[in-house]
Amino acid sequence: MDKILDGKNTAIQYDEEMVQTIASLKQDNVTPGLAVIMVGNNSASEIYVRNKKRRAEKLGFNFEEIKLPESISEDELLNEVNKLNQRDDIDGFIVQLPLPEHISEEKIVNAVNADKDVDGFAPYNVGKLFMNDPKQVPATAKGIMLLLEKYNVELDGKNVVIVGRSNIVGRPVAALMLNANATVTVTHSHTKNLSEVTKQADILIVAIGKSEFITSDYIKSGAVVIDVGMNRVDGKLSGDVDFDSAIKQASLITPVPGGVGPMTITGLMYQTIEIAKKRANAKR
Ligand code: NDP
Repeated sequence: MDKILDGKNTAIQYDEEMVQTIASLKQDNVTPGLAVIMVGNNSASEIYVRNKKRRAEKLGFNFEEIKLPESISEDELLNEVNKLNQRDDIDGFIVQLPLPEHISEEKIVNAVNADKDVDGFAPYNVGKLFMNDPKQVPATAKGIMLLLEKYNVELDGKNVVIVGRSNIVGRPVAALMLNANATVTVTHSHTKNLSEVTKQADILIVAIGKSEFITSDYIKSGAVVIDVGMNRVDGKLSGDVDFDSAIKQASLITPVPGGVGPMTITGLMYQTIEIAKKRANAKR
């Protein structure tokens, strides 16, 4: 069991720390404010938003959910984004994706004030991350870094291999690892001889969306394995890593569920509090 990187428990530890930070912010009359704009009735999005709301309220955030009809026009949605951009009590907000087809996601993401972009999707924040001066970064990437930090996993000089190059996981994790002085390799569906590359990893991060794809054959003995995958197979949640096989090689490994999942919301809450701290400092 001591091989487990326990995201559920680590998230609880961060929650305890964040509750204390929020209490001290309240002395400056600042309550972290987080809003989520939700357009239409996507059932997966509804679950994500409910989970965010539950955690935010438990921690003592001011959480606001703005539900808008599927038929809303792009201009009306831009107007809602601008209202949040201007509100002092909202430190960060998210426009839950996907959006209906008649709305340009790019336009909406670009309209979010970079200071309040807690998802780290705005091009400015992506640029800052790649320039080694990050502000907010995508929540899953942040959550992975916070998890590794609690377990004192050394990153400096380590070989980190990332499987998957999405904008929400693979790329931001690669940039954060590079910023942490790791030697980073990013692999994807065009990578030749994948297992030869992944076997070089001291730390292997997998985000491909293919159930139990990575087995012990892809893993060097003693590697740290982070499984980002969340796949529904026959109604059951599974990761991108075959846990029972991989644990034979790994020194530390995240389970699914209970690994990266809970840490993703931690990443979001943590970064919202960081913005709220700046608001409190500005008041002093
Ligand atoms: P995407 O579908 O956006 O990206 C998948 C990536 O995996 C692509 O870069 C793709 O390569 C690569 N890939 C696919 N098949 C292979 C293969 N056989 N070998 C090597 N690379 C491959 O996925 P996401 O990053 O959005 O999500 C990945 C997984 O993580 C999903 O299961 C998702 O549900 C989960 N997830 C979990 C989160 C959490 O909070 N725990 C948060 C976000 C995602 P190419 O670019 O060449 O197509």
